Amino acid sequence: MIQDSFIVVRYGELSTKGKNRNIFVKKLKNNIQNALREYPNIKVTSNYNRTLIELNGHNGQEVMDVVEPIFGIASFSLGVKTTKDLDVIKQTTLELVKDTESKTFKVDTKRRDKQFGESSDNVNRQVAGELLRNTQLKVDVHNPDLLIKIEIEEKDEAYIMAKTIKGAGGYPVGVQGKALLLLSGGIDSPVAAHLANKRGLHLEAIHFESMPYTSQNALNKVMDLASQLAKAQVYMKVHIVSFTDIQMAIYDKADENYAITLMRRFMVRIAEKVAKSNKCGALVSGESLGQVASQTIESLDVINRATDSLILRPLITLDKNEIIEISKKIGTYETSILPFEDCCTIFTPVAPIIKPKLGRVKMYEERFDIEEMIDKAIDNIRTVEVRPKVDSLFD
Ligand code: ATP
Ligand code: MG
Repeated sequence: MIQDSFIVVRYGELSTKGKNRNIFVKKLKNNIQNALREYPNIKVTSNYNRTLIELNGHNGQEVMDVVEPIFGIASFSLGVKTTKDLDVIKQTTLELVKDTESKTFKVDTKRRDKQFGESSDNVNRQVAGELLRNTQLKVDVHNPDLLIKIEIEEKDEAYIMAKTIKGAGGYPVGVQGKALLLLSGGIDSPVAAHLANKRGLHLEAIHFESMPYTSQNALNKVMDLASQLAKAQVYMKVHIVSFTDIQMAIYDKADENYAITLMRRFMVRIAEKVAKSNKCGALVSGESLGQVASQTIESLDVINRATDSLILRPLITLDKNEIIEISKKIGTYETSILPFEDCCTIFTPVAPIIKPKLGRVKMYEERFDIEEMIDKAIDNIRTVEVRPKVDSLFD
């Protein structure tokens, strides 16, 4: 019976970032520790080349499942510690690989204990022989599906690592600082969040609601999405803006077909202020080129001109079906398609303008006291810190 004893984590892209490496390694270690905080015996140690997760009795497969989605990891392997006895090493390796789906393997032994009775080559041959006799696996020394690493230590122990799994890639969440996500209840913005997290951004979210035109259910849905997104970063702050007065004013004072454009410009102006006061360096939205009237080049351009903030749009070139695919993979899809009205769907004009003119937009905006409307909305913001929901209905 194998006692899993550790997981070796290898770094992703961060290995190319020479001088920033220490920051990345520290952040990754921290993120791994946070993700594994419910496993009290686990010990995480890092160095320049790898992070070691000592399981101390916790279930290896379970911990691997927690490690798999953490950004910044290129690959990781489950390893076991045995005594330095060739028969034990042979038996343990066999047990480790017996359920593998790989077809070919190679054994690669390193001997730190030069007094060990067997040469590295001999250990390779003996272990390979054991696997050839007892499994369907074949040897491929050049391009094996399964690389089995054995390390004979100076202390009375040996390490065996098989089962290397591809990590989530990207950068550890937080190494690129913070950004503010415009989170609606739709399919797109949670996917944008996932991709922004993947590049190392920690996100806060801002959501615009239109009570009483939108329901408590609509808000619950957004909070549920936030709690699913929080898994990647331990917690997520959500700033909830009451947008009803602004929307009513827009419908009162401007042409209906410009309403969405004007709404979006108010949203980014408010988001810019919230971002600044919360040290978020950019905004992130779920817009995708051409998907709807407000996402044409002309619309995006007019929206952009309402703010000096950098707006990141991770989905800009993705097709809707590509976005849906990611949303299913990250588990937000089922929540996103719940049919609760969002502030924008309620106030959607029959024929929203596809190519808004900045001149027209400015003409309408002169009819408002923009600063006052924005300040009022910001004064009324409610901020909630959302944690990953363990018993999420939509998990
Ligand atoms: P989504 O599926 O994310 O709702 P969408 O395809 O419905 O996107 P729009 O409604 O035009 O597209 O919204 C574009 C983007 O604007 C969203 O992805 C989101 O980033 C932001 N947004 C829209 N509505 C809201 C809202 N009520 N609160 C916060 N951000 C919003
Ligand atoms: Mg939407």
